Formats: sequence, C-alpha cells, structure tokens
Amino acid sequence: MLDWNQVIKYANNGSPAPEKRVEKSENEWKELLTAEQFQIARLKGTERAGSGAFCERHEPGLYGCICCGSVLFDARTKFESGSGWPSFTKPVADNAIKYVKDTSWGMTRVEVLCNACDAHLGHVFPDGPAPSGLRFCINSASMQLIEEDQQKATAVFGGGCFWCTEAVFQQLKGVNQVVSGYAGGHIKNPTYREICSGRTGHAEVIEVSYNPNEIGYKDLLKIFFSAHDPTTLNRQGYDQGTQYRSIILTRDEDENQVAKQVREEMQDYFDDPIVTEIKTLEHFYPAEADHQNFYNDNPGQPYCNVIINPKLQKLRSMFSSFLKEEISDL
Ligand SMILES: [Zn+2]
Repeated sequence: MLDWNQVIKYANNGSPAPEKRVEKSENEWKELLTAEQFQIARLKGTERAGSGAFCERHEPGLYGCICCGSVLFDARTKFESGSGWPSFTKPVADNAIKYVKDTSWGMTRVEVLCNACDAHLGHVFPDGPAPSGLRFCINSASMQLIEEDQQKATAVFGGGCFWCTEAVFQQLKGVNQVVSGYAGGHIKNPTYREICSGRTGHAEVIEVSYNPNEIGYKDLLKIFFSAHDPTTLNRQGYDQGTQYRSIILTRDEDENQVAKQVREEMQDYFDDPIVTEIKTLEHFYPAEADHQNFYNDNPGQPYCNVIINPKLQKLRSMFSSFLKEEISDL
C-alpha cells in the first residue's frame, strides 16, 4: 500500500511509469487553460486557502488533471482536512502521480504532479488519516470533475442506411443506446433531405453508446465490417450515393489506429478491396425523430423485411455471444 515511506522512495528514486505521456508547449497549455489554471498547474502556483471550487465538494465522482484529463483521485478518498484545500488519502493508482522533492520556501516537502503531463497539483504530507496516513493537498484549479458519463464510450460509423446499422447494433450486449445521425460533411445541422442530395458530404451514421467493460471498440468494428459491404464505393445494395458510403469516424489517435488495424484484418474476409473511409469525427448530428429506432417502430415496413432481417439473421449466427440475452434466445 502507498504510505509515506513509499512516497519518499518515489521522490528519491523516481515515480512509477505513467499509463501515458502528454506533452505540450507552454503556449499550447496557455491556449487550453484559464490564466489561473495555467499559473497553478504549469507554473506551480498555489490557490488561496478556501477559495477553490472543490474544497467543499463531497459528492461521488472522479477528479482528473485539468491539463490532460488523466484520472487522479476518487471522491471516495476525499476528506475534510480543515486546510482549505481539497484533501485525499490516496490517488486512483500509484502511477497516476509523480512525486518530486521540493525544497522551495526553506522547507523540504514532496510535490505531487500529474504523472502524464507534469501538471503541478500540490503536495503530499504524512499527517493524513489511516490507513495510508497520507494527505494529498491539491489545488482545485489543477483538477476537473470527470463525470460518470464520460466513462461511457461512444463509437461513430456509417455502413449505408442508418435504419439498418441501428437495428444491428441495438442487439448487442454492452450497447446502451444507438442514435442515427449524420457526420463527415461540411454544413451545420443538416436535415435528411439535405444529406440525401449527396451535396452536403455527410454520411448516414450511427452513434453507439457502449460500456467498454462489456464490449470493446474493436469488437464493434468487426461487427460493423460484417454487417455491411465495405467494398462497394458510395453504395450499399440498392442505396447509392456518398451518404451511403462506408465510414468510421474516430474520436482520437487511439481509435484511429484501432480502426486502421481492424480494416486491415477484415480484408481477409473480402475478395474486393475494402473502401471504408477512416476520418476524425468533427461533429455528429442526430437525425430527425422519425428516423430513430426505425426498425423497431416499423417492423412491417417492406424495406425492413427485405434488407434488415437478413442482416439480423447473419448477426445472430456470426456473433451470437455478443447478443443481448433476450435476443440470442429467439
Ligand atoms: Zn495531466
């Protein structure tokens, strides 16, 4: 367990390696932060006791680094120290924090920084409550609240008509919600009529909200490649036009790498080259209400019977272990 001896060891010999590193220039941090946040997190300032936004906050939640968003502390380890600064007994993980000996102001203290981006957080002292006996004394300005919702992930892709892809992904375990919409184009708030013209550049896509502990981004992409034909340029079956193109819209560099890797792996299953576009998501626009939940709301519609039902049958046979229980029992 992390205790004062361990903290001293880290301060003397170096902290454990972080999960990731985030490096930016001083000017880049300045752009991202308010003047106060920059002063405290990047220039090792200290906010006035009792003035910080999180001093009195004790609701559940996670606190992340104001600069890079790395998760640092859990509200369950926050306690009232009377110091005027948010106080925690331990970080979420030993390697979330960097410990550095600080001899400024004629004192010897241990400074704590974000181990990913070196943001100054505050100091740690050996006068906290059991069991760690530690008091992490942290500036509110160095932290941001990470809402529970942000821990849920979303994936955005388009494989032709969104009525179909929505119906497929609604069947999967770990998928909480599927929203049909438009992305990848160049006008704001497009309507269905506008995107159908093919002139706005938008594709019909779905936004899948999922729990990464139950289903991974990679699994979603494999199912995506299996649920449509990724080898026909700007066309799915009878549906023709750039709005029906095969596209994956990624939120960050990690997703981008995974998408490229899965696209390459899936090529083995197709005779023709995969033409799926992979591009950074700029904005997802939900479609009009009558396009949401289309298959479930319109089961008798001929399009559903002809196009969607065979896709669902294929899904049931290929990916039965990923299906919600009430569906795999059918
Ligand atoms: Zn950070």
